[in-house]
Amino acid sequence: MPIIPEVLDHLDELSEIRRDIHAHPELGFTEVRTGDLVAQKLAEYGCEVHRGLAATGVVGTIRRGNSLRAIGLRADMDCLPMQELNEFPHRSRHDGQMHACGHDGHTTMLLGAARYLAATRNFEGTVHFIFQPGEEGYGGGRVMVEEGLFDKFPCDAVFAMHNKPGIPIGHMATKAGPMLAATDRFDIRVRARGGHAAYPHLGTDPFVIGAHIVLALQTIPSRNVDPVEAALISLGFIRGGSAYNVIPDELHIGGTVRTFRAQVQDLVERRIGEVAKGAAALHGATADLEYRRGYPPTINHAAEAAFAAGVAAEICGEAQVERNVAPSLGGEDFSYMLQARPGAMVWLGNGPGEGGCHLHNSRYDFNDSAIPVGVSFFARLAERFLAAE
Ligand SMILES: [Zn+2]
Ligand SMILES: [Zn+2]
Repeated sequence: MPIIPEVLDHLDELSEIRRDIHAHPELGFTEVRTGDLVAQKLAEYGCEVHRGLAATGVVGTIRRGNSLRAIGLRADMDCLPMQELNEFPHRSRHDGQMHACGHDGHTTMLLGAARYLAATRNFEGTVHFIFQPGEEGYGGGRVMVEEGLFDKFPCDAVFAMHNKPGIPIGHMATKAGPMLAATDRFDIRVRARGGHAAYPHLGTDPFVIGAHIVLALQTIPSRNVDPVEAALISLGFIRGGSAYNVIPDELHIGGTVRTFRAQVQDLVERRIGEVAKGAAALHGATADLEYRRGYPPTINHAAEAAFAAGVAAEICGEAQVERNVAPSLGGEDFSYMLQARPGAMVWLGNGPGEGGCHLHNSRYDFNDSAIPVGVSFFARLAERFLAAE
């Protein structure tokens, strides 16, 4: 049986922890209750516990022998600012906050691995269990790295796991190179001259200009970017106007850009500005672009991705591991840790999801049947990485 047998002894407790965290979700940098629970469990299992990195971050450490080799295993603890629509007993107790990205499961599985590794210590070296705050847009991973995560807790490599609905339970996936995208945001403000809706010829209409911009933006990925590269522009909102018979002065368009490579990112940023300003100028108005870069792309290091895939195959069986999975245009702040140290992110099958729903859906729930797979993966990863010579 590829699942580590000792892991199966504690599944009920792990599932209880997972549901308790799910019921008490906390937003980025406010994971106080979750951090308390993590710190208390780590201490109970026999780990050294460090708190306070990136405000609510927790790091647990265990060692054995004299080897200087060290591995970092990372989980994220925060929830999303959204209302849960599930009605099961462990639904969120906090209005407008929900674990819809499965970080409750990530935290639980890393605790499970800490428990097993602290009890068995079949390795030579150091394991750091990194529980980071604020993955969902807060950049908690970046803050931890900036506050000296890898100086205080030196790691030769760092690994993370994200649950993935749509991949069956007992399957895992990863790849070398780009796994998740850079996540940028932009605001376009069209400044025209509004007036009475019956006299458009006396001004300039920001809606007509905005309509041109919306369509022209989609020619950037299709006509400016090399078609073998990935680039995505999606709008999140268009705001303007307040009355049926008034042409407003302004229109505000906001959206996100996803890319894998810096050259493509630079090109898309430049072209959004040219398209917006050009379309506005064509109609005698002006437009401003504010472009903000978010998380960098998540780039797996080739050797560590291959190593993680090998361990996944040990747990799940070779046929259940996709070693060159198609990347996603989602984002992840584990990117910052991968910029600082070699490592890789892997996806853990979460099954079809409740009613087929995906991450960030108001009915999402982490699938507890994935817990033994994830715990065994994290645990074996540490044992294989720190194998006695
Ligand atoms: Zn998420
Ligand atoms: Zn997530």
